[in-house]
Amino acid sequence: MSFEATLDCARSLDAADVLASFRERFELPHDAHGKPLIYLCGHSLGLMPRAARTLVTQELDDWGALGVLGHESARRPWIPYHENLAAGLAELTGAAPREVIAMNSLTVNLHLMLAAFYRPRGKRRKILIEAGAFPSDRHAVASHLEWHGFDAHSTLIELAPAAMEDVVSEEEIEGTLQQIGSEIALVLWPGVQYRTGQAFDLERIARAAHRKRCLVGFDLAHSIGNTELALAHCGADFAVWCSYKFLNAGPGAIGGCFIHERHLSTTPRAHLAGWWGHEAATRFLMRPEFHAAAGAPGWQISNPSILSAAPLVASLEVFLEARLARLRTKSLALTGFLEFLLERLAPDVRIITPREPRERGCQLSLRVAGGRRVLERLGAAGVVCDWREPDTLRVAPVPLYNRFEDVWRFSEQLTQVLGRAD
Ligand SMILES: *Cc1c(COP(=O)(O)O)cnc(C)c1O
Repeated sequence: MSFEATLDCARSLDAADVLASFRERFELPHDAHGKPLIYLCGHSLGLMPRAARTLVTQELDDWGALGVLGHESARRPWIPYHENLAAGLAELTGAAPREVIAMNSLTVNLHLMLAAFYRPRGKRRKILIEAGAFPSDRHAVASHLEWHGFDAHSTLIELAPAAMEDVVSEEEIEGTLQQIGSEIALVLWPGVQYRTGQAFDLERIARAAHRKRCLVGFDLAHSIGNTELALAHCGADFAVWCSYKFLNAGPGAIGGCFIHERHLSTTPRAHLAGWWGHEAATRFLMRPEFHAAAGAPGWQISNPSILSAAPLVASLEVFLEARLARLRTKSLALTGFLEFLLERLAPDVRIITPREPRERGCQLSLRVAGGRRVLERLGAAGVVCDWREPDTLRVAPVPLYNRFEDVWRFSEQLTQVLGRAD
């Protein structure tokens, strides 16, 4: 694809975009005067699919009209509601439908997976994560180590980038596993790093971990709906995600888990249980014994919030229609255009996200001088992106609803803001 640093070029790329009409399937935020914002913040909170309003309203209407009878008689009955989500989640994660389940929220799911998969034995008790992990993930992992009575300082291994580097390579992960893998019980790694935007080769990490007999789980908060995933094939033991970033399912939406088939058929099952994981046919006999439902649904704990799951149904329908492979193709072009414009219009900005398209999703993380004021000035100019201390601006053009013109307008505004002398 050939780019030029002009608005005309952006417009002709939009005119040729086969996915352009999907933008109309979303509500687009605007300022207090009704002027559309340049929204490049889908890595933090994805925009609202219009169909979410319809589906949530439908649930409120069915609740109003049916009361408790909605469990079986709502237009989408509430008891098996998770079945509405399995096919879409399986498609986006590259898993079998029985290996995925929408439930709880990300950090809660991470705790449940750590309870099931972190089984320290003898000298093998360490957990490997990345230095600078999302704080919630680090809190969750450290609290499990401490809950087991270990000292988190010596059992939590945090792999940092080499001196002067912004990102960790897969070679370095392999090297650490080669060196101390026999002491590591579990590897927890992100699919896409939230701060740098780096996308990892998950198959390679899973292979290196398994070679040393470590279990491996992935946090896909910034990957799902962004990059193509092949969880079943790559052999991960488990994965967790939230649904409000690139999955566009709304603030605090229901999260999700992947549990590899090899862990679904083991008996006895070694996971924490609740009544919603009981097989549906006999759940309401209310017997004291637990008989797990088949597959990942057997790992459910509570009955889910239908109002937080309905927007995810709406969102997954849009994804299935647009198709992830096509979205990824557009995403590579959108982010490539952003990179191209920054190189020409804002050469002082340092892009810390890897330059190799395979090693990133849609987000670029930019190291800018001028501090938080840059974000504030962009905000005043109608641009929504975000800031991570001390110096990183995160910008994510999302192929479902962003246009090449948005990327152009952002680059133009950033150039102006950085060019201001005061
Ligand atoms: C967004 C994000 C979370 C958020 O956790 P919640 O439990 O959904 O509040 C956790 N971890 C990572 C890596 C994230 O990107």
